Formats: sequence, structure tokens, C-alpha cells
Amino acid sequence: MPTTRKVGAGDYIFRFGDPGDCAYVIDSGEVQIIVSVDGEDRIASRLDAGKLFGEMAIIDRRARMASAIAATDCILTVITIDQLNTRLDLLDPVLRLCLDTITGRLRSAMHTNPLLVPATAESRHDLIDGASSAISAVTRIRLENELRFAINDNQLCLYLQPILDLANSQIVGFESLIRWKHPQRGVIGPDEFIPVAESSGLIGGITDWVLAEACRARAELMAKAPLGGRMLEDAFISVNLSAQDLVSPALAERLMGHLRDHDLPPECVKLEITESLLMSAPELAARSLGQCRDMGFQVAIDDFGTGFASFGYLQQFAVDGLKIDRRFISGLASAAKDRAIVGSMINLASSLDIPVIAEGIEDQQQADVLSELGCGYVQGFLYARPAPWQDLMGVDLLTVQRRRSSDQGAASSQPKAKQKPFARKKAEAL
Ligand code: C2E
Ligand code: CA
Ligand code: CA
Repeated sequence: MPTTRKVGAGDYIFRFGDPGDCAYVIDSGEVQIIVSVDGEDRIASRLDAGKLFGEMAIIDRRARMASAIAATDCILTVITIDQLNTRLDLLDPVLRLCLDTITGRLRSAMHTNPLLVPATAESRHDLIDGASSAISAVTRIRLENELRFAINDNQLCLYLQPILDLANSQIVGFESLIRWKHPQRGVIGPDEFIPVAESSGLIGGITDWVLAEACRARAELMAKAPLGGRMLEDAFISVNLSAQDLVSPALAERLMGHLRDHDLPPECVKLEITESLLMSAPELAARSLGQCRDMGFQVAIDDFGTGFASFGYLQQFAVDGLKIDRRFISGLASAAKDRAIVGSMINLASSLDIPVIAEGIEDQQQADVLSELGCGYVQGFLYARPAPWQDLMGVDLLTVQRRRSSDQGAASSQPKAKQKPFARKKAEAL
């Protein structure tokens, strides 16, 4: 179904009794909602740009109770029944029951008095907390429609950011960070579109694309890296997962399929899951990630320290890495508190024999403090910004290493303790 629809002035958008297969948001123009009162057509309401209509029939999956006519030439954004169903499936069961009840009452009220349409439509808008919510809902639907198209139109792009061993500046792995190359808006970051992908159910397809692309990148980078790929042969590639990826029963199998395509071992893939996601669904995470670890994949906790976590989960889960969030790193050189917090995290991880990656290192002072605190691994703009993985093919990755090694020589501090290396043998007891 097209994501937008143009309708000429005077044309019907839908008629009374039609099956309700989509709702519309008006991008431009005016729409009249027509109801039949005692056999006579009456205008129940006139709607203009930004207004939603036709939603009731897709919520309760019944026929249209009114007709809609374009009063002027109109451009409409289409919301399909599938888009709505995905959201309803994610909805809290109590909210869903309330929605079904309201819709049922509305229908029976409209049988008695069809002119109720405008009043109910307006009050529904009030209910979802006014114009700003409506606008952001519309923006999300448009973004979702464009994203659906973008996936099939090869607009997604995988960036990689190197992760280095702080002691010797060798690259130990890369984090996969997705970007959307939007034809009009340029490069869009994941913070803007991943939440839309999550609420619309598109995330499964996106994660699958990321996994496939990350495996391809890992294989090709290895093959073309200097020294015949020797310096990268133990390098891992990490991928960020969302909550719905954990629900997907086929996550591990799909991953295995992508690895087989490139003849790669599971040990080279690290799955990053945020601490807050882990805390929101601990049983699910334990089951799904346990399965992935049994198959040989590595698992790391992302944004460590931000998720109101209890350390109890470190007892329950076997993990291969903790990533200290950027917000603790930015003040590291100046704030004694940040230094104390990061120091405790590193000590905790060291005593549990879990490698630590500090994220978001932007200057040498931060790197020096981390080195003093005994942090094992680092990632940040100081070393390399995320870049399309194909761009890394033409770069001598040793230059990152050499440059950092010589900087390191100038740094006075030495790492406090060498942390456990990342490389994980398949048979390692967990
Ligand atoms: P994250 O997993 O915490 O990723 C690290 C973020 O920090 C990235 O932002 C990276 O570009 C940024 N970063 C790295 N070094 C520095 C630094 O020195 N300074 C500053 N200011 N920032 C730095 P990005 O790429 O915008 O990604 C944002 C978030 O989006 C990620 O946070 C991750 O949660 C999510 N994300 C990215 N790619 C994917 C994906 O493929 N799937 C899913 N589900 N989420 C993704
Ligand atoms: Ca991450
Ligand atoms: Ca992070």
C-alpha cells in the first residue's frame, strides 16, 4: 500500500460501509466527514492539515461509519492496519482493553447520533494530550513510512568505530553503528530512527541487516587489512541489540547463518545489550543471551552504570565485557566523583575478571586517567570517529595504532593492571 495518497477536490477518500483498511493524516488540503442522518448526507466535520481521520475502523476492524470527501486537493499520509496492529500488539493489555471499550461505546453512540463524529474526534485529540502529541505521532508515522522504504532501497549504512587496547593501542575490535542516508535530509543518526523502528516492529529486519552487514564487513576488512589481516584476526565486531531482538526466537540461528556465509567463527561477534534493557526483562535476556553464549558469541553490557542496576545481574549473567558510559568519562579529568565512580567500576569488573571498555574518550587527559585506573580498552573520537566500514578498507589501520602508540610513549602513566583479553575460546568454561 502506498505511504501517501493524493486526492482531487470533490473525490471520495472512503465511503460509508467500506472496509476499514487504513487511517489518514492530512498533509495538506481539507477533508469533509459526511454522515447520514435520516437518509440525508450531512457534513459532520471539516478537517485540515495535521488532523487524523478514519482511525476508528482500523482500531476495531469494522466497516466505515462515515464517508470522507476531499473538500480541496489533498495529500494524505496513510497509516495502514498493519502499522496500527504492530503498535496494538506492543500495547499494555489494560490500555488495549480501555481502547477497545472506548471504540465500542463510540460506535454505539454514533448509531444513535451520527453527528457525534466531530465532537469525539476532537476530544480524542485532547485525550492524547493535545496538538504536540498529535504532531509527534504524525512525524513518527511519516518517519516509519520512509524507513520502511529505506530498508529496501539500500539507504541504511553501517559505520564502524575501532575499539583499542589502551596499553598498546592495538585495535581489538569494532562497534557497528547504524546510519540512515536519507535522500533529502542527509545522514540521520540511530537515536532518531531506532526508537521508531522499535515501536513499529521494523527493528527485527534492521537488526538482521546489521548482523549480515557486520559479518560482511568483518570478513572483508580482515581479508584486505595490512599484514594479510594478521593484526585483525582476533578482532571482534560488536552489534547493538534491542529488546525485541531478544524476543526473536531465531536470533542465534540467524546470526549463525550470516557467519556461515562468510566462514567466520561465532567468537568474533559481540552482542551489546544495554544495562536498562537487561534490567527491564532479566529472564528473557538470560534465556536469549545464554543461548547466544552457548553457541560461542560474546555478550557485553552497554551503558554500564546508567540503568539503575543491581549488581546481582553480574552474578546471574556470564558476560564478556562491560562498557562504561560516556557520561562518566566526560568529566573524568576534572571531577573527583567521576574518577571515583569509574575507578570502582573498573575494580569491580577486574575482580570479576570481566574486561572493561570505556566509551567516548575525547582527549588525552581522559585516556591518561583511565590508564592510571587500570582500564583495559577504549573507544572514542580521540582514536577514531565512526566511519562507513568501506572507508576503512582504504586506510592503513596500523596508522591509528602507530599514532596512538607514539602519543602513549609521551604519557607518563602506566596501566595499573592488565585486564583479561577479549579473545574467547569456544570451549572456555563460563
Ligand atoms: P551506544 O551503543 O552507546 O554507541 C556509542 C555512541 O557514542 C555512538 O553514537 C558513537 O558515535 C558515540 N561516540 C563514540 N565515541 C564518542 C566520543 O568520543 N564522543 C562522543 N560525543 N560520542 C562518541 P551513535 O552512533 O549516534 O549511536 C547512538 C546509539 O544508537 C548507540 O549508543 C546505540 O544504543 C544505538 N545504535 C546504534 N546502532 C544501532 C543498531 O544497529 N541497532 C540498535 N538497536 N541500536 C543502535
Ligand atoms: Ca553500544
Ligand atoms: Ca554505550
